[in-house]
Amino acid sequence: MATLGIPANTIAVLQKYDFNFQKKFGQNFLIDTSVLDRIIAASEITKEDMVLEIGPGIGTMTQYLCEAAREVVAVEIDKNLIPILEDTLSAYDNVTVINQDILKVDINKLAEERNGGRPIKVVANLPYYITTPIIMGLFESHVPLDSITIMVQKEVADRMQVGPGTKDYGALSLAVQYYAKPEIIANVPPNCFMPRPKVGSAVIKLNRYEQPPVQVEDEALMFRIIRASFNQRRKTLANGLKNGGIPVTKEELVEILGKMGLTENIRGEALTLEQFADLANNIKNLKH
Ligand code: SAM
Repeated sequence: MATLGIPANTIAVLQKYDFNFQKKFGQNFLIDTSVLDRIIAASEITKEDMVLEIGPGIGTMTQYLCEAAREVVAVEIDKNLIPILEDTLSAYDNVTVINQDILKVDINKLAEERNGGRPIKVVANLPYYITTPIIMGLFESHVPLDSITIMVQKEVADRMQVGPGTKDYGALSLAVQYYAKPEIIANVPPNCFMPRPKVGSAVIKLNRYEQPPVQVEDEALMFRIIRASFNQRRKTLANGLKNGGIPVTKEELVEILGKMGLTENIRGEALTLEQFADLANNIKNLKH
C-alpha cells in the first residue's frame, strides 16, 4: 500500500495531477500516518463491515478502510478528485467512489442495497463547513448505523459531549447524546494536514445506542422544543417556546415546570436531556 499519509507521497500525487485545493470544499488532507492508524483502530472495522467514507480527498484514509473493511463507499463532491481516486485506489476492488454532495445522497438506500439494511460504519475526516448538517442528517434520517468515527473541529467535538452549564452546550450536544455515546479519541494539531487548517481538530467516535437513554413519545416534538430553547439562549425557556411556536400556553408550561421541580424563569440551556424528554412528553400529553 502506497501510504499517502507520508507528506512526500501526497505532494507527488498533487503535483502529478496539478491539483488545486478548493477552500469552499473544506479540503485539508491528512498527512500523518499515526493519526490515520488511530482513526482506523478506533473505528473497529472488520471484514464484515460496510464503511461509508465522506470526502475521501485523494484516498489517503480510503486505502486503510479498503484494507480493513468488506466494502467501502466513498462520496466525494469535487469532480477533480475522481481521476486521482481512480489511480490511488486502483489496487482495490472493494471500493465504490460516488461523485456527489453527501447531503444529497440517500444513505438509507445505500445501506439497504449494499448491506442488506444492516448497520454501517461511517468514517471521515469531515469538511468542517457542513459537520453539523452531516451528523444531524445521519441521525435524523435513521440510517442504520453502528458508529461514526470522524475528524471534526476541536470546538465541535467539545460541543458534542458537554452537558448543561457550559457555553458549548446546545442543540448539537443534545442530538448527539440522544442517539449516541460520544468518545474523544485524539486531539489533532493543524500540522497533521495539508494545507493546515486555522483551528485545532479532534477525532471523536459516536457509538450509536440501540435504545436512546431517555424515553420520548414524540422525538420530532422534543427536537423542536430543543431548537426553540437554544434559538434564543439569553431568553427564558417560556419565551423561547412561545416564539418557537411550541403548542403550550404560559399557564400550562408553568404547571409542567412546577411538576418537574423547575422555576418558570429557567433557561433552556439549564435543562438536561432527561428534562427535555420529560418536558416534551408532558407537552405531548396536554389535552387541548
Ligand atoms: N479524507 C481526506 C483526507 O483525510 O485526507 C480528505 C478530507 S477533507 C477535510 C474533506 C473532503 O470532503 C474533501 O475531499 C472535500 O472535497 C470533500 N467534501 C466537501 N464537501 C463535500 C460534500 N458536500 N460531499 C462530499 N464530499 C465533500
